[in-house]
Amino acid sequence: MSVTDRKILLVAACALVDSDGRILLAQRPEGKSLAGLWEFPGGKVEPGETPEETLIRELDEELGVRTKVACLAPLTFASHTYDDFHLLMPLYVCRRYEGVAHGREGQAVKWVRPKALRDYPMPPADEPLIPYLMDLL
Ligand code: C5P
Repeated sequence: MSVTDRKILLVAACALVDSDGRILLAQRPEGKSLAGLWEFPGGKVEPGETPEETLIRELDEELGVRTKVACLAPLTFASHTYDDFHLLMPLYVCRRYEGVAHGREGQAVKWVRPKALRDYPMPPADEPLIPYLMDLL
């Protein structure tokens, strides 16, 4: 693939933070790319959506968590070249939400202390985001 063929994919991701300062990771399910790796939840920004709208939709669909634009604070972003696309992925932090997070699509989820994030194998785009969360929490 030449550089000019490589598309930019925009994915929004979120660090949900609980009252103990733990962060939610979701395990990518079998059948998806990077299956088994632990990621910050989120998803592709669909045409016409803002990244915040994407997260509000995805957090509800994937985890049964409801939040609002005002509760999503941008922290940093990932910029990572995969084989067939370049991923741009803003990472938001959300401390205010309703609902008890659970894997609505059968995926495993885990609340993890910032210091323990590195114990969970992550997609290569997500890993460089960890220090930003360690600094914040
Ligand atoms: O989740 P979904 O498969 O729609 O994401 C598209 C691609 O974005 C994945 O194949 C993966 O390469 C990348 N991704 C990632 N980290 C995430 C979410 C997605 O690297 N937290």
